[in-house]
Amino acid sequence: MVEIDENLIGKDVLEMAFDRCIKCSTCKYSYKDFEKSCPSGEKFLFESYWASGRIRIIRGVLNGDLEWTKDLIDPIFACTTCGACMDSCQAPHADYIVEMIEALRELAVKNIGSAENQKFLVTRCEESCNPYGEPNSDNVELKKEYTLPDKAEWIYFIGCTSNYRQKSIRDSTLRFLKKTGIDFTLIDEHCCTSPMIRTGQLSIVDEYMKYNIEQIKNAGATKVITSCAGCYKTLTKDFERFGNDSEFEIYHSLELVKKLLDEKKIEFKSEYNKTVTYHDPCHLGRHMGIYELPREIYRQIPGLNLVEMKRNRNFAWCCGAGGGVKIGYPDWALEISKERLEEAKETGATVITSTCPFCKTNLSDASVHYNIDFQVLDLMEILDQIDINVLS
Ligand code: SF4
Ligand code: SF4
Repeated sequence: MVEIDENLIGKDVLEMAFDRCIKCSTCKYSYKDFEKSCPSGEKFLFESYWASGRIRIIRGVLNGDLEWTKDLIDPIFACTTCGACMDSCQAPHADYIVEMIEALRELAVKNIGSAENQKFLVTRCEESCNPYGEPNSDNVELKKEYTLPDKAEWIYFIGCTSNYRQKSIRDSTLRFLKKTGIDFTLIDEHCCTSPMIRTGQLSIVDEYMKYNIEQIKNAGATKVITSCAGCYKTLTKDFERFGNDSEFEIYHSLELVKKLLDEKKIEFKSEYNKTVTYHDPCHLGRHMGIYELPREIYRQIPGLNLVEMKRNRNFAWCCGAGGGVKIGYPDWALEISKERLEEAKETGATVITSTCPFCKTNLSDASVHYNIDFQVLDLMEILDQIDINVLS
């Protein structure tokens, strides 16, 4: 067995590249029905752009058969980390394929650098604590606007995309939490670190995780809610994986909505008379196994007609934004969303909805870019448009 640097976060999963993958190619299409499922392989149509090829690259660079050259940048970084390959592969390492790709990226960053522009995810954070390079919002003004306390049981962790690009999701979530009487507040957040982990750029990850945990503890909170699938996966799984287990209860906003519905603390009153199709965010679906909860909520909204796209749940086609693809390969990211919007059109829906601000960003950008007439709305934005009764 080749010696792997002990200091690499992904050391354990890199070892799997040597004895698990049998190169059967099952990861290339959705298991059993053979639909297209890997955006990267379908775009580049070359072995190195599928999961199986990336595993071969790991093996090659570690045992010395493959030299580190810039030619490896695209095969390593042109992957949305959507995890469709994990659901199709039937081998014992299936659940770890995306972690293996992220670990390969960790190695690549040290040896050849990352894809174009992905370094800005880190440099912008170093300047202003968010990957968009916007002046840091310490959320003090928002706390005043919504009359939020300094200490509370819950923290609403807004996340950078909702706080700087999709403010309507942020504001809809804030209004929902206020309306339902949840004891919550906000903190001065740093990026959750998802964009850095996905692109293998780990230099500030540990510091940011510790900072966010400290802020949440200082606010006296034991529960955290977020409306972002990326933040949710990172807070739930990656904090622990990186040795920063927070011990907070982490909720995606849809889990809180469902809990309040089940406990009969809220009920939907007015109608939303539209045909809607749900796009499963990769970081909520394949990475966290949440498929039915959002659908159960949409079905309880009076008047809403929920229809399914051909590829749904664990075989949903990715929106194209994740894994650093939106910043590293922006044109291709839009092409992936275009394919999703065309699939959504076939359902007869006029609204495509999701539970992730990053999905909303890319699907909206594609609908404008390709002139595909579609309303793209988050669950929290739809809930903001209907009357909700709060029952004590
Ligand atoms: S990653 Fe899994 S599905 Fe893909 S070639 Fe290897 S063993 Fe087969
Ligand atoms: S994570 Fe998604 S894009 Fe990357 S290899 Fe797997 S299926 Fe393809």
